[in-house]
Amino acid sequence: MSKFRLEGKVAIVTGGASGIGEATARLFVLNGAYVIIADIQDELGGSVVKSIGAEKCTYKHCDVTDEEQVEETVQYTVRTHGRLDIMFSNAGIMDPMMSILNLDLADYDRVMAVNARGAVSAIKHAARAMVRHGTKGSIICTGSVAACQAGNGTVAYTVSKHAALGLVRAAAGEVGRFGIRVNCVSPSGVATPLACGVFGGSSQDEVEAGCAAVANLKGVVLKASHVAEAVLFLASDESSFMSGHNLVIDGDARDSDSIKI
Ligand code: NAD
Repeated sequence: MSKFRLEGKVAIVTGGASGIGEATARLFVLNGAYVIIADIQDELGGSVVKSIGAEKCTYKHCDVTDEEQVEETVQYTVRTHGRLDIMFSNAGIMDPMMSILNLDLADYDRVMAVNARGAVSAIKHAARAMVRHGTKGSIICTGSVAACQAGNGTVAYTVSKHAALGLVRAAAGEVGRFGIRVNCVSPSGVATPLACGVFGGSSQDEVEAGCAAVANLKGVVLKASHVAEAVLFLASDESSFMSGHNLVIDGDARDSDSIKI
C-alpha cells in the first residue's frame, strides 16, 4: 500500500472550512491529494488554506444551495487541475431543536436546501464531470446516525439525512457502470461548531454541555478526525469494491483523547 493513498488525485470538499470537512481536507492533502475547499465561510476557508499550504489546496466560494455555484466549482476544478477524482459532499446545517408539533416549515426548507438539495447538486455535477472525463471517481456524502435511529428532536435534519442516504443509494446504482463509486459516512455526535452550537450555546460552558449532549449511546463524542479517516478509506482505491454503502462511524474511541463524558 502506498503511503500516500490519494497521490495525484484531485478532490472537492464541500463544507471544508470547518469541522469534519476541514479535518478531511487536511487528511486528503497529507495523503497526496490536491483539495478544493468549497464553502461559504470565505475568511475561515482562506485561513484553512493558508495553514494547509496554498500549493496543495485552494478555497472556492460555493453555496451548495445554488446549483450554478456547484457546477462552476466542479468546472473550475477540471479547468484548473484537469480532473476531478473525489467529491466529498459534506456541507450541512442543523435546525433548532423543535418538536414536529411546532415545526417551522421555513426551517425545514432551509435545512433541506443545504443537506439534501445541496448534496444532489454536488453529486450530480461531480458524477457528470467524472463520466465526461472517464474518471473512475469516488463520491462520499456525509449522512448521520440521525438516519439510522429514532429521532432526537431535529426533525428537518433527520429527514435531510435520510434523503442523503437515499441519494447515495440511488446514485450508486446508476453511475456504477461508469466505474464511479458513491458511499455515505454516518457519524454519531462529533464535537464541531454545528453540533455543539445547536445542542449548547455560545459561552464555553454551554458549548461543552452541547458537545456532551451529542455523545452517542456508548458515551462517546467523536472527533472530526475519526470521521476523516473513514472518508479517506472510501476515497481511496482500498475501498474499490464498495459502493452504495453507509459506513456508520459511532465506535468506541476510548483509546483516543476524545472528550470524555
Ligand atoms: P461544521 O459547522 O463545523 O461544518 C459545516 C460546514 O458546512 C461549515 O464550514 C459551513 O460553512 C458549511 N456550509 C453550511 N452551509 C453551506 C452552504 N450552503 N454551502 C456550502 N457550505 C456550507 O459542522 P460539521 O459537524 O463538521 O458538519 C459537517 C457535516 O457532518 C454536516 O453534513 C453534518 O450534518 C454532518 N454531521 C455532523 C455531526 C456532528 O455531530 N457534528 C454528526 C453527523 C453528521
